Amino acid sequence: MAKKSLPRPKDAEEEQSACWLCGRSLGHKVQQHHLVPKAKKGKATVPVQPICHRAIHAHATNGELARMEGSHAELMQQEGIARFVGWVADKPPDFYAPTRRRRQG
Ligand SMILES: [Zn+2]
Repeated sequence: MAKKSLPRPKDAEEEQSACWLCGRSLGHKVQQHHLVPKAKKGKATVPVQPICHRAIHAHATNGELARMEGSHAELMQQEGIARFVGWVADKPPDFYAPTRRRRQG
């Protein structure tokens, strides 16, 4: 009995996706951000970079996120988020928090 193996879906990881928060193209590490927190019965997720994911939760509480209902515009009104997005804009996709140790030599 020859089992027919299903054709493998092509690698769906083409660079068609951009980070939901900052709009930069995604790198190797992608996290799923719940637009409305799981704790608030949210289900929809969007791909974000780890650093962006962290920034979202650093600047907005679950309660705030639930109230925004996944509105990117409202999230961007958080001063910390807006500043973060401006700051991260020119960083490489896989950039993560710099440990401030850049001594050379
Ligand atoms: Zn991002």
